[in-house]
Amino acid sequence: MSHALSTPHPHPAASALGTLYIVSAPSGAGKTSLVRALLQRNAGIGVSVSHTTRAMRPGEQDGVNYHFVSQPEFEAMVERGEFFEHAWVFDRHYGTSRLEVEKRLAVGEDVILEIDWQGARQVREQSPEAESIFILPPSRDALHQRLSGRGTDDETVIARRMRDAVGEMSHYDEYEHVIINDTFEHALTELECIVHARRSRLDKMQARHATLLDELLNPVD
Ligand code: 5GP
Repeated sequence: MSHALSTPHPHPAASALGTLYIVSAPSGAGKTSLVRALLQRNAGIGVSVSHTTRAMRPGEQDGVNYHFVSQPEFEAMVERGEFFEHAWVFDRHYGTSRLEVEKRLAVGEDVILEIDWQGARQVREQSPEAESIFILPPSRDALHQRLSGRGTDDETVIARRMRDAVGEMSHYDEYEHVIINDTFEHALTELECIVHARRSRLDKMQARHATLLDELLNPVD
């Protein structure tokens, strides 16, 4: 009698790893709200807290929104090779800690990197299996409205934000998935579908459900 089908395959260590997601968007596309809602509705997935040299904004917390560091601290981390990726975005440094991401993936957690297109390129080079998602606003008008703040900002400031947004959006076709944030619920469902589809892939299922598969395929009687 052949046991070829009755014994689950050994699970290569890589399969037990969590999945890495890259999520990019222009400012004003609603990326942060979508990611927050995704995390509220799904266990086993978290967002990586980046390091930045930009100033903390009102309502932000060190260690929660970002690790806020000085320029010399950031440079020292670069020198020590502590960044998985890092980039110069809007006149400031941003980077993802290699240790933080690797530790979380190693215990099977899925990790989202909310990074720009330059960081996304670096991550894809090192981790081609990372799933990448670009979020677009539903129209240029909607984007303009979202970037206009409370209507108190100068038109030149808004124009600069629009130019930056178009620059980021011009890289949308480097990503595997593109979501248009027309209605929040719709966009959130699309984001969730990507995560759920990835989790149901054979290697991930084998790693997460080894006991169940063993029980189903090897009945005791
Ligand atoms: P903000 O300063 O408005 O929070 O973010 C500005 C931009 O920096 C966003 O486009 C965001 O995706 C990007 N960003 C935030 N953290 C990182 C990071 O760790 N690496 C890279 N490459 N970009 C980041």
